[in-house]
Amino acid sequence: MKVIGMRGQLRDDILREIRSRNDIVEVISEYVLLKQTGKNYKALCPFHTERTPSFVVSPERQLFHCFGCGASGDVFAFIMKLENMSFPEAARLLAERAGIDLPGDGASGPRREGDIKALILEANEAAADYFNWALLQTRQGATALDYLRGRGIDEDDIVRFKLGYAPPGWDSLYKALTRKGLSPEILEAAGLIIKRKESRGFYDRFRNRVMFTIFDLHGRVVGFGGRVLDDSQPKYLNSPETAVFSKGSSLYGISVARDEIRASGRAVIVEGYTDVIAAHRAGVRTAVASLGTALTQNQARLLARYAKEVVLAYDADFAGEAATIRGMDLLSAAGLQVKVAVFPGGKDPDEVIRSEGRDAFVSMLDGARPLVEYKLDLALKDIDLSTLQGRVAAAARAAAVVAGIQNAVERLEYSRVMAARLNVPEEAFIEEVRKLGRTGPAPRVPSKDKFGQNRNTTGNTHVEGVSHLRQGVPAKVIKAERGLLRLMLEEPDVYIAVRRELGEVVFSCDEHRTIAAAIMDEARNSERGGVTGSVDAASVISRLADDTLRAVATGAFIEDIPVSPEGRKEILSDYIKVLKEHLMRERIRRMEGELKALEASGDTAKFQELLVEWQELRSKLDREFASFGGFM
Ligand SMILES: [Zn+2]
Repeated sequence: MKVIGMRGQLRDDILREIRSRNDIVEVISEYVLLKQTGKNYKALCPFHTERTPSFVVSPERQLFHCFGCGASGDVFAFIMKLENMSFPEAARLLAERAGIDLPGDGASGPRREGDIKALILEANEAAADYFNWALLQTRQGATALDYLRGRGIDEDDIVRFKLGYAPPGWDSLYKALTRKGLSPEILEAAGLIIKRKESRGFYDRFRNRVMFTIFDLHGRVVGFGGRVLDDSQPKYLNSPETAVFSKGSSLYGISVARDEIRASGRAVIVEGYTDVIAAHRAGVRTAVASLGTALTQNQARLLARYAKEVVLAYDADFAGEAATIRGMDLLSAAGLQVKVAVFPGGKDPDEVIRSEGRDAFVSMLDGARPLVEYKLDLALKDIDLSTLQGRVAAAARAAAVVAGIQNAVERLEYSRVMAARLNVPEEAFIEEVRKLGRTGPAPRVPSKDKFGQNRNTTGNTHVEGVSHLRQGVPAKVIKAERGLLRLMLEEPDVYIAVRRELGEVVFSCDEHRTIAAAIMDEARNSERGGVTGSVDAASVISRLADDTLRAVATGAFIEDIPVSPEGRKEILSDYIKVLKEHLMRERIRRMEGELKALEASGDTAKFQELLVEWQELRSKLDREFASFGGFM
């Protein structure tokens, strides 16, 4: 997350414009559910797994900060981290979002990673247009169109999901796109064409298939899924992994479903492309699908950013597969409430909607059951409960499921229900669950941040920098120092006043000292530019050299302080008092060390001299701070 030195050729004034036209609250709310609290906004952190929000966004500072994992920065840093982009790529995305033309767009030059991604996206876009044209405008496309219509798909669906058709020739797409000036290398990097092994040249990856366009969150074409029209194999073929496409991180339908999922807090997950299209047509606009595989951790995280609850709508066979259930566990571990709606008779949602209608589908979704209950049913499915042996086996399987429940009360409730249902002693069942709970923990989504040691689920841990921990500085002092930094941002001159009062050493750690120096540097810098008064937080942060410093600074800057000058004066004097007391106590402590050493060395004269000084300082401390509780 380096900001310095990664700006490439983008000029500062353009970066400033991109920043000013992408309000951080608006941008972040496209990814996470923000809730206003006072001046700031809070959310569950998208960068680590948590149940209590510790992710704060400040509209005033245009910064975000997570008090759980330490992730922090400005709008560029957010996009870089969340989209896993380089600085130029993030700048490009934000520029596009704000409708700003970047210089150098379309110009040729050395190809960097970001440029290749942009070219692949361009190639994908052109391919989607071509497939769509081939579906609607060619004679060969008519077969594919018939197939889609046979599944109830109409013109609106074709437009909304940009459906298409890949003609049967070996090089239809290749010819069409190279004629438009796209290079074979980029088409190959996009996974659209494949290099011939025996001879020179390329051939199309997708031939004689109905084409499903895969969009990312922002509606950019990242890949394709193609389905055969005859019995040839494989039935479904996806784009390979490319610089812009990862199967395990994509969800089909996410770009059309995103806003509705965020608004309702619920997502419906179906198995295939046509299930998504059918669900949307039936009015269930929150439907998405994983791309022909079990759900992955990345997909679970993606959904957890927008939804609180997911309903899995699968046919019975797919729902019962071990890999599918692992996917459900990942959703649950990502903090989502998981429900399962299994369709009878081996039907998938597409078939249910076509044969039984929209209402039947919606009521099946409403009747979805909690994941635990679904797993319990599955565990007991083929067991004969009329025999003792059967009941013992069933109890063992049920206990394994119940042991995986996170919530202790819920775990106990299910233990009781299952013991009664299986007619086994309740205590024995509970004991079994307890034993399993110790050895077989539920799967968790590990934090992908390097601030792993700060990861927690309560959101109370603050990233304070390392040296605090080493020195054992009281929390009250750290709080005052952070508050002081926050005030300095508003009025840099307070630092001068504070130093007059406390002497040169104000802060207890290098991190805070460095940040204070950066604020003063920035203040002097803007003063030279004719700007006085408050200092821009983002500029201060960009002066800091490493991630830890930037995280500590953002954490301090993002806190609310009183707006009125009187209010500020009051808390400043509180801070000074706390820091003064701390410095005095530190001095007394050092003196005590020296006294011990002098006593041991037998230097009585010096010892007496220092003892007097020590006594004076002690009584001064008592006078000024009148606290009898010893150290804070
Ligand atoms: Zn976090």
